Amino acid sequence: MSAIQVTRPIVRSFKDPHRAAAVAHVKKGGHAIFWERKNGRRSAVLVVPPVPEGDVTNLGHWSLLDLSKWRFSRPKTGTFRGLFTSRIPNDCFEVVERRAERDSVWEGPTRKVAFDCLECGACCKTNRVELEKSDLDRFVKGGHGWLLKKPYTVKSRGKVVLTLLDNGNCRHLAKNNMCNIYEVRASACSEFPVASECCLSAREEELSLYDGLAPQN
Ligand code: SF4
Ligand code: SF4
Repeated sequence: MSAIQVTRPIVRSFKDPHRAAAVAHVKKGGHAIFWERKNGRRSAVLVVPPVPEGDVTNLGHWSLLDLSKWRFSRPKTGTFRGLFTSRIPNDCFEVVERRAERDSVWEGPTRKVAFDCLECGACCKTNRVELEKSDLDRFVKGGHGWLLKKPYTVKSRGKVVLTLLDNGNCRHLAKNNMCNIYEVRASACSEFPVASECCLSAREEELSLYDGLAPQN
């Protein structure tokens, strides 16, 4: 497999009186973190371009998943009308600050990147891969029911989850970063987009590869 080229959004932080600049950035394809302070408390909103219904590989969608959230708001009035927004949980402030720090070296609202997954494999390490009902059905129908048995899966928090080796790697990750079950891999794996925030953070955490500025502290 050769490198996959992707145009990814650049993440910028904004605060009043720069609301219009945040909107302009997002309308050109970027992602904005809009910070506010009310009654002495800081809050932040993620603002992204509209995510088409059912587009499971959309980078805005994955920007939200990386914050362990699932649904955007779609304001019909106000400055952010027509865009997708989501309140950022307080315990994710450091995550979004890191995104903006990383992208502070890039100009413009988007950037072209090319990543080769076979030189990486970061998202197949220390990762929780939950199997969907459709995965379970597909494994069984395709004669791969063995994938649902020990030691390949465990039940965890009500989900069937792929197991990891002692070194944290997915049990199906080969030494050359190929997936040993590539043809039938979980939908969570096949839908995982290159250059999504989950991809970028996995590359940082597992391989210290920074698509921009490295952490400054
Ligand atoms: S972390 Fe990103 S670049 Fe690395 S293997 Fe996963 S999708 Fe590919
Ligand atoms: S099943 Fe394959 S693609 Fe999914 S995490 Fe494991 S090695 Fe990676």
